[in-house]
Amino acid sequence: MNYHIGIDDTDSASKGMCTTYLGAKVLRFLLGKKAMLLDYPLLVRLNPNIPFRTRGNGAVCLRFEATPKVFAEVKDFALGLVARDSVLDDEKTNPGVVFLQGSVPRELKAFYSRALHEVLEVGEAERLCSSVGVEFHKFKNGRGIIGALAAVGAELKNSDYTFEFLAYRFPENCGRKRKYGLESVTSMNEAFADSTFANIYKKKPRLFPAGKDPVFCGVRGETPEAVARAFKALELNEELDFGVVWRSNQGTDAHLNVGVKTAAMASPFTEAKIHGVVAAKPEYYGSNPGKRHVRFALSDESGRIECVAYAPTREFRSAAAALLLGDEVWVGGGVRNEGNGFSKSLNLEKFYVKRLAPLFTLESPSCRNCGGRTSSLGTGKGFKCKKCGSEDAGAAKKSHKLKRDLAEGMEYVVPTCALRHLTKPAERFGREKKRFSLAKPLTPSQVFRVLS
Ligand code: ATP
Repeated sequence: MNYHIGIDDTDSASKGMCTTYLGAKVLRFLLGKKAMLLDYPLLVRLNPNIPFRTRGNGAVCLRFEATPKVFAEVKDFALGLVARDSVLDDEKTNPGVVFLQGSVPRELKAFYSRALHEVLEVGEAERLCSSVGVEFHKFKNGRGIIGALAAVGAELKNSDYTFEFLAYRFPENCGRKRKYGLESVTSMNEAFADSTFANIYKKKPRLFPAGKDPVFCGVRGETPEAVARAFKALELNEELDFGVVWRSNQGTDAHLNVGVKTAAMASPFTEAKIHGVVAAKPEYYGSNPGKRHVRFALSDESGRIECVAYAPTREFRSAAAALLLGDEVWVGGGVRNEGNGFSKSLNLEKFYVKRLAPLFTLESPSCRNCGGRTSSLGTGKGFKCKKCGSEDAGAAKKSHKLKRDLAEGMEYVVPTCALRHLTKPAERFGREKKRFSLAKPLTPSQVFRVLS
């Protein structure tokens, strides 16, 4: 029999823990029971604008084949683990665990698609569980069942996907400073440039989370082999417990590809991709001169929305500043709520230039006599050559087309330092995959590595 387990909302920003860590422990348990893995463990990122998320709004799903007896043991283990190890005393932690038997119903796939960009309710998740036969377990307000259910619905079979090798620390080391050789990160990044992504930004590694969570580091890339080999190339000055190869929708734009909307439809806390025309020229604003943001208005047939590229997006912000009135683009990002002095706006993650408005400048004509440069004699009075001195009363300024700093057909995306988990970074352009299938169940060593 095939089974699917979804888990979410077990961790706390201040007190540590990580849903992938609990998922990895359930994975280890079920592999120990000789259950057969039908897919890599899935790390599924959902709407990044959800206000009550801890960090990157991630949930996990495990799919396996087992006997009903083994499944019952796995279920007991998973529920016991979540009850024991979730940070339940954090007000924002509200775990949810779901179990599905059989194949993934169409309704769950649709729920996943919506969870990528909309804001969903616990009640809807509960009703859906009941109607498609999913067993659900809520802890506290049980909000976690939204993410857990969406993760089970995320098959990632006919869409792009990536992998991440997550290495976990021994519990006694959690909270200690993570130590590693910076040079090994740089050389790994070079050696695996074609098969990994988001490793480093301007000599600052992006592999290491901060804080108490049990993840020591994560290497993202295109294949299970690439992420595992790239991880091995790192010099890490700590003995680690174990590592897991996760399959994921990270770095794929999954949230934007389902969130195509009009300006009027873009509601707070959702993700939106909007096609429109620049209706107010970009301007820099903000009181801190070193950290100014860029904003412009975009309009489509439904209305207008303000788009903002915040200072931390660095060179992307400069690209947004180069847009001009009349440029036709699509923009992608999270919708910010109105309030605290802000109007409803789109927090830009990327934009694509469909058509650039022509940019002209007016220049003095060349001298008809010698070809030299001329200067104006005053409005309507013609021009005088700076070289030979001849005057031409009938000459007028000529318009001249300027080269734009942006290119048509080009997608501009925030740099690695400002990247959201789901956003496809520039280095992945052209590497997209279309299908996933496994010829046979995975062996434990393909997904789980003891590292000590
Ligand atoms: P981490 O990245 O450390 O795993 P997190 O950022 O995933 O943490 P959670 O603690 O899981 O944050 O909190 C996210 C909460 O939002 C969960 O309860 C999840 O069920 C819920 N959630 C996820 N997607 C949606 C959505 N589209 N609408 C409403 N709630 C959602």
